[in-house]
Amino acid sequence: MANIIDYEKCIGCNLCYERCPESVYDLDDAGRVYVRREEECWLCGSCQMDCPADALKVKFDLNVAPLFFFKEPQ
Ligand code: SF4
Ligand code: SF4
Repeated sequence: MANIIDYEKCIGCNLCYERCPESVYDLDDAGRVYVRREEECWLCGSCQMDCPADALKVKFDLNVAPLFFFKEPQ
């Protein structure tokens, strides 16, 4: 599993840093967000869904697919 930030798309809003419940993200000395504690990610999907620039991807193994991967049965 790896959380990937595409810095070509990132607009530096820091929403991912502010909203991650597990403090996976941190800010470097220049104030740019980066993945610091990837092992703390519990795949809630919040950062990826809330990123306004579609710059963030939460990668996961299929055997530990996150809840947002599944849809409610119709
Ligand atoms: S939410 Fe998206 S655009 Fe905002 S800092 Fe994080 S990766 Fe960048
Ligand atoms: S998926 Fe959830 S726990 Fe994982 S980095 Fe994003 S906001 Fe944090």
